[in-house]
Amino acid sequence: MSAPEGFTDADRALLTELRRDLHRHPELSWKETRTQERLERALRDIGASDIRRVANTGLVARIPGRSARVPVVAVRGDIDALPIAEHTGLDFASQNPGVMHACGHDVHATWAVGAALLLARHPAAGAVMIVLQPAEEVGEGATAILESGALDGVRAIFGGHVDRRFAVGEVVAQAGPLAASADTFTITLTGIGAHGARPHHSADPIVGAAELILALQTIVSRRLDPALPGVITVGAVHGGHAPNVIPESVELAGTIRATTAAVRSLLTSETTRVAHAVAATHRLTAQVTIADGTPPLENTADAAGWAAAAVRDVFGEAALVPLGTTNMGGEDFAYYLSRMSGCFMRIGAREPGGEHRDVHTPSFAPSEEALFAGASVLAQSARIASRAFAG
Ligand SMILES: [Zn+2]
Ligand SMILES: [Zn+2]
Repeated sequence: MSAPEGFTDADRALLTELRRDLHRHPELSWKETRTQERLERALRDIGASDIRRVANTGLVARIPGRSARVPVVAVRGDIDALPIAEHTGLDFASQNPGVMHACGHDVHATWAVGAALLLARHPAAGAVMIVLQPAEEVGEGATAILESGALDGVRAIFGGHVDRRFAVGEVVAQAGPLAASADTFTITLTGIGAHGARPHHSADPIVGAAELILALQTIVSRRLDPALPGVITVGAVHGGHAPNVIPESVELAGTIRATTAAVRSLLTSETTRVAHAVAATHRLTAQVTIADGTPPLENTADAAGWAAAAVRDVFGEAALVPLGTTNMGGEDFAYYLSRMSGCFMRIGAREPGGEHRDVHTPSFAPSEEALFAGASVLAQSARIASRAFAG
């Protein structure tokens, strides 16, 4: 397959303006109404006709292929922003106080539109579904898109995330774990309150909580194979209000991260077991709630191969870079992979001479050149996958 066409100057202007407009008007998860309208207009402007609103504030558009008999593949961009006050100094900075596209989803949405533009011009073997997904940051949008039925029958899906650890033109497209599961636990330790001077009359949940926080750390250090990644973080401790009062209860809350189903299961079951065991030691009861978040994101080998071939076509072999250390963040693209093949890529977004800056920070700003790199790679991934399904 020959290298994909580049973007014209007019395309580049259109996509840059779209991205800046989305950036200026960020909207939180499930509130992406202006964003939805703007993206709908952008898809219409590039000639897409089969556009549908799905999953409340999401959109899908079907870009016809050369044959209606070839199975459909999909390209997904997420569209929501974060409750962060922007401090980038950009002249197209957020005009919505306290809300910011600090995770680059303005770029991801534009990638999907850019891929639609390229695929409309040079169609894949079969149709490609463009998915503009709301509510990634709360881990709910992918499930809502799947439940809408819009992707029924779709065989493979591609998506990506801007990443300033990598230069523009570098892409991670590899099989296996790419992002972690993200489950939330809450543990309430309940005992007997008492005067601070008479601890022997209490069953003290403060001391119990202190021991439990440390005991939870031994799950990763003593129970998990040291060659496998896993995280248990206690991020919130609530209990007590006076220096001389032992309270009746203390609540701990935290997050559990794993990159495989087996590790996820070990960490969650051990968290529960250890909480009850430590509580019993201190004559407390433990109420443990674990809310399932996104599952681990594991790219399938077939789709990772197609995505890697697309990166080679667009940028050459040297552009394919390894992930390096495992990413313990969560990404709700994982839900799509329980239904179909797929590859989620990390797409370089650092300008020459630039430094790494993390997403979810007030100064995060991806290079705008990443707009065209991501769109080209996603369009080409869809073409290569579609050709494979065409047989
Ligand atoms: Zn994010
Ligand atoms: Zn993100």
